Amino acid sequence: MPSTSSPVTVLGLGLMGTALASALVKAGHPTTVWNRTAAKTGPLAAQGATPADTAKDAIEAAPLVIVCLTTNDDVRTLLAPESEALAGRTLVNLTNGTPSQARELAAWAEAHGITYIDGGIMAVPQMIATPAAYILYSGTDEAAFEAHRATLTVLAATKWVGKDPGLAALHDLALLTGMYGMAAGVAQAYALIGSEGIPAREFAPLLEDWVAGMTHAIVPETAEAVDTDQHLTDVSNLAMNRAAFPNFLQAYAEQGLRPDLFAPFQGLLDRAVEEGYGADGLSRLVTLLKQD
Ligand code: NDP
Repeated sequence: MPSTSSPVTVLGLGLMGTALASALVKAGHPTTVWNRTAAKTGPLAAQGATPADTAKDAIEAAPLVIVCLTTNDDVRTLLAPESEALAGRTLVNLTNGTPSQARELAAWAEAHGITYIDGGIMAVPQMIATPAAYILYSGTDEAAFEAHRATLTVLAATKWVGKDPGLAALHDLALLTGMYGMAAGVAQAYALIGSEGIPAREFAPLLEDWVAGMTHAIVPETAEAVDTDQHLTDVSNLAMNRAAFPNFLQAYAEQGLRPDLFAPFQGLLDRAVEEGYGADGLSRLVTLLKQD
C-alpha cells in the first residue's frame, strides 16, 4: 500500500505539472521530476524534488508515473520510445484529451505491459491540493487505481468514473462544455450591457444570481426530461423561444455586436420547431444534437 514514502515521478512541469509535483513534495513523497525545458525543474528542486536528466531516468525512479503535457500527441511523442522503461509501472495521464485518445493510449500501454489510468483535472493549478479541486479517473485496472489512490488524493479529491479508459475524458469534456457554454453567455451578456456604457461590475451581481438560479433549475430538470424522454412543457416551449430569439440577434446587431456565439442557436430552434417539437421544452435540443 503506497504511503507518503512511496516515490512518484512527474513528467511535464508546465503550470499544472509544477502544481502537481509541488503538492507531492509537500506531502512528503520522494518526487522525481523531468521537463523538456530543464530550467523548469529549478523551483521544484529547491522544494526538495529530484530532477532527472532524461525522461527515462525519471520513469525508472518510481512505480507511479504522472504525465501532464500540452496534448496527447505530445504524450505519445515523449513516451513511445520509453515503453520498456514504463513496463510494469502505473502511468497516470492527466493531459487534457478525448475519449478516443485515452482508449488509444490505454491500448498502447496494455500492449507494452504498462498499467494506464487516464485522468481529467477539474481545477486550475492554484486549486491543486485544496478542497476545491477534484480529478476524474478511468482505466481498465481499477485495482491499480485503488493501490495509488492515497497518493493521488494528495493532488485533489479523486472521482473514479469507470473501467472504460475514455470515461474520464468524456466526463471532463462534458463538464467543461457546460462551463464554456456559461462563459460564452457571460461574454455576450457583458458585451451587450457594455454597449450602453454600463460597467460590467455594476451588472455582475444580477448576472451571477440569474445564472446560478437558472443553473439550479435547468440542470436537474433537463436531466429528468432527457432520462425519461418526456420533453413536453407548460413552462417555456420551443415555439415561444424560437419566436423570441430573433430579438436577441437583432439587438446584438443594433448594439454593434457580433452574433457569432449565438447565431447557431437560432438555427437549432428553427429546426426543432420545423420538426414538430414546438410544444417541447429546451431539453428537446439534447436529442436534436445527435448527428444523423
Ligand atoms: P503549460 O503550457 O504550462 O505546460 C505544458 C507542458 O507540456 C510543459 O511542461 C511543456 O514542456 C510540455 N510539453 C509540451 N509539448 C511537449 C513535448 N512534445 N514533449 C515534452 N514536453 C512537452 O500547460 P499546463 O501545465 O497548464 O497544462 C498541461 C495539461 O493540463 C494540458 O493538457 C491542460 O489542458 C491540462 N489542464 C490545465 C489546466 C490549467 O488550468 N492550467 C486545468 C486542467 C487541465 P516545456 O516546458 O519544455 O515547454
